[in-house]
Amino acid sequence: MKGYNPDLFRKVKKAVSMQQVAEYYGLQLNRKGLCQCPFHQDKNPSLKIYPDGKGFYCFTCGTGGDQIKFVALYHDTSNYEAAKELAAAFDIPLAEPMTYREKREAELVRRHRVAVAAFKKRSTLYVKMYWILLCEAIHERNEHFTEALQNITYIEYLLENIEECPEEVYEDKKAVRRIGDIKRRITDWYIRIEADGTISR
Ligand SMILES: [Zn+2]
Repeated sequence: MKGYNPDLFRKVKKAVSMQQVAEYYGLQLNRKGLCQCPFHQDKNPSLKIYPDGKGFYCFTCGTGGDQIKFVALYHDTSNYEAAKELAAAFDIPLAEPMTYREKREAELVRRHRVAVAAFKKRSTLYVKMYWILLCEAIHERNEHFTEALQNITYIEYLLENIEECPEEVYEDKKAVRRIGDIKRRITDWYIRIEADGTISR
């Protein structure tokens, strides 16, 4: 998805409703279709989400527009960037694949993206959990203190990379193996092998 696409706005607005956009940004609609406005300090829900593609309007601060405008205001970016963001978030195909081969390639790209997203979610969970355990170990100077000192920087580096460029981490066999090790390490974190060889938790 690159360059100017004259159909971008039309396709995005057709594919994603205002309600979907509101939900995507975690806004809770009440029965009247009102939610708390993210564009001013809103105590009572005063932003109305209109059905059937009629957009949104805040009765307090007067902000209004369509799906794309909402995202642009929310991220303080251009309408073009907002439309691209929505297209990516909702997996909207912007160009129809022409040949069988192109369709097949698009499908592979889509599957790859889903796999990377799942990997990112899973890895973040394990690595963050391990990072919390290491922080705790340093803070408490407990039996994992040395392990924590040795690993904390790498773990923070790994977390940053998973966040910034998950695709590259996903392709990096060493990093993937390391994340597998981390997962196992968390599982046996509280297992202690006693002097007589028995295992306790
Ligand atoms: Zn408002």
